[in-house]
Amino acid sequence: MSFSLTGRVSGRRLRAVRPLALAFLGSLLAAAPAAAATTVTASSAVTRSCHRALAPSAPGHDALRVTAPSRGLVSARLRASDDWDVAVFGSKRRLVAGSAGFAGNELAEGFVRKGERLTVQACRFRGDDASARVAVRFTAIAKKKTAGKVQVVDVVTRRQVDKQRLQTLGLDLTEHGDRNSVEVVLHGRRDARVLRRAGFRYRVRIADLAARTRRNRQKDRRHAASAAASGLPSGRDSYRRLPDYELEMKQLAMRYPSLVKPITLNHKSVLGRDVNGIEITTNPANTADGKPVFLMMGVHHAREWPSSEHTIEFAYDLLRNYGRRSRTTSLVQQTRTIIVPVVNPDGFNISREAAPLGDFSLFDYEMKRKNCSISEATPAQYRTGACDANNAGRLRGTDPNRNYGGLWGGAGASVSWSSDTFRGDDPFSEPETQNIRELVSSRQVTNLITNHTYSNLVLRPPGVAEFGFPLEEPQYKALGAAMTAHNGYQNIPGFGLYDTTGTTEDWSFWSTGGLGFTFEIGPSEFHPPYATGVEAEYLGLPPAEGAGDGGNREAYYEMLKATADTALHSVIEGLAPPGSTLRISKTFQTSTSPVWQDNFGNEIGDPILFQDTLTSELKTSGPKFAWHVNPSTRPVVAGRHGRDPTGPPQETIAFDNPAGIPAENVSYPSGPYESIPFTVNGPADGVDNGRFTVHVEWGNPQTDWDIYVVNAEGTVVAQSASFGDTTEDATLFDPPPGEYTVHVVNFDQVQSPPDDWTNGNVTFQSPTPRVETGTKESWTLSCIGSNGKVKATRQVTVDRGQRAQVGNACAGSK
Ligand SMILES: [Zn+2]
Repeated sequence: MSFSLTGRVSGRRLRAVRPLALAFLGSLLAAAPAAAATTVTASSAVTRSCHRALAPSAPGHDALRVTAPSRGLVSARLRASDDWDVAVFGSKRRLVAGSAGFAGNELAEGFVRKGERLTVQACRFRGDDASARVAVRFTAIAKKKTAGKVQVVDVVTRRQVDKQRLQTLGLDLTEHGDRNSVEVVLHGRRDARVLRRAGFRYRVRIADLAARTRRNRQKDRRHAASAAASGLPSGRDSYRRLPDYELEMKQLAMRYPSLVKPITLNHKSVLGRDVNGIEITTNPANTADGKPVFLMMGVHHAREWPSSEHTIEFAYDLLRNYGRRSRTTSLVQQTRTIIVPVVNPDGFNISREAAPLGDFSLFDYEMKRKNCSISEATPAQYRTGACDANNAGRLRGTDPNRNYGGLWGGAGASVSWSSDTFRGDDPFSEPETQNIRELVSSRQVTNLITNHTYSNLVLRPPGVAEFGFPLEEPQYKALGAAMTAHNGYQNIPGFGLYDTTGTTEDWSFWSTGGLGFTFEIGPSEFHPPYATGVEAEYLGLPPAEGAGDGGNREAYYEMLKATADTALHSVIEGLAPPGSTLRISKTFQTSTSPVWQDNFGNEIGDPILFQDTLTSELKTSGPKFAWHVNPSTRPVVAGRHGRDPTGPPQETIAFDNPAGIPAENVSYPSGPYESIPFTVNGPADGVDNGRFTVHVEWGNPQTDWDIYVVNAEGTVVAQSASFGDTTEDATLFDPPPGEYTVHVVNFDQVQSPPDDWTNGNVTFQSPTPRVETGTKESWTLSCIGSNGKVKATRQVTVDRGQRAQVGNACAGSK
């Protein structure tokens, strides 16, 4: 589908017509023609936006004119040795796409109509290079019709195993759900059929997502036209596009040179884009200043546009308020905040640029979640084409938030290349996750927030229930609570909805000890209207759940405050000659999950072990130093929460089925049900229960009995409401002693005479004993001389909340 252009091409200065093609995708496009780039020139540099159409006479730019040969995609790739930017404009100066990275490596890619006359505008932003090379390529996109509308539905999944089974169907699950359901995006009739065939019941929540999205866009246009500056720190009132993020970060670095350092991550994206961010602190250039680091990220998932908006707005917040508000000033001085708004620029650009044409066939791309890589398992017919024009549509790519190595390869991540939660060919196989891994491994990232949409959740490790909580669960939970007090979200572990593996914090936390959270911003929709999805959620305005409580803005400040709090990380203190370089490092093996070989967990292979190395440096400035670091012992080996039983568990209580059978009832807690009281004893009675499980069973799998357990106050403390089987088991961990009641509900009867339940009982088990924290790991601390040789080295063991005194760090080994 890719071809070189032979149509009209002319430079502003009437260059000879020449065919244009592009080779940057050459490795992906076996049939792609050889590249032919055009040289553009500008005699002066001007630091301004290149994604605004410039007058032909404006200095500092050059332009090519091209006509789109078909409906499809245009790519303009620019290369220069200094900072140039590029943009493509269509009819009526419509911005098709732009690219404004920190250097001279730009890719502007967007959708065009057949015959649309385009201007490729190349701008010299700064530096000495007066020329750049620009290559333009077109890809036709055939009209295609999705069979059936894209819908959002609530799928009934009342047990964890139902949620797990739903995850194996290859459908597009959202992070939204509750005890009884998970929200799923159905891309056409085929998906709906898959769901029904698997026996799931569902309720339609949004019958036509494309129509909803069009209405949202109209709302956004009206909002942007009516509002003056929004209340956001930047004043922004509409969703940014990729060049907006890049340009604004450059402008912030220029406007606040004493507070901002640009950072380009180590790996280019799959399509070759730079991945950029900014670091914010006083004296930002010295990245070895020993301050605790808060890393905030957006857009692992392409369609989750509010996640990057929130991320960059916090940068504006810190910079605008530094020197004005004592809280901000003091926190910016004490900490370093690294902002990476768009971790997955390829996916984001596709999702964001697919939208403006309002064309239903492009909606597929607007709902893209993953990156642009092609899996080893991808069949040949899906390997061709560009990322935003190919036979697999949005399904090309790996889910970056299932590709992190810690716990990689287990439940809640797909082994299928086309699934929206595809885990990738290997742990850390993707440039996006390698970027974050290397950043986190080379800095002491003590605190981390990765922003996503949606579900009003603040999630913490573990992502897998079976993995168990870390020793610092109480502190972790308290920090989550401090944040959710402002945004009104639920403060729960990552497995709270369903098990997931390969997510950001399940590597970063367990391997480095830095406290990481996932924010799922907003109650509904991946990119709702800007006024609600960004302004209201960030500022804490109606209709956001955090209205009146400060919103995500205050939640982020809580995290920054926690970054400065030495009770939540570790400090190494000592003496060293001014100007010394100190280094701490450790190398270890990290284990993935036992690796699932299929999506069903039927066949599970061994975990993969891979090497992790954490190394970071401190440049000392005085005779004394204080270095804010993560604990020396990794949480994954630090032992787990548990408690030693103070007595045996209580004896099993068997209970009889009361006489009669209640009428069918689908609306518990109202309606009829049977009540069976029982008593839970405690240490005062000589027993210690780690958990109880209430059990009932019956004969016909088509019959559905549900059970609920309420405490003396009438609160439901445990429930089991599954269907398609013949048992219910409701479990409560660490049950407080007291009176409880089982409510047995007759949800669905299919036979006559009725199939009544039998064999009811309550069983009790001991708590999981505390794991002895036998393992204490240490950092290797070295003092490096000016000749690069190690002058002294020692092991430093330091726990969370501790300060380790090491004496003179450069005075010979101990
Ligand atoms: Zn996400």
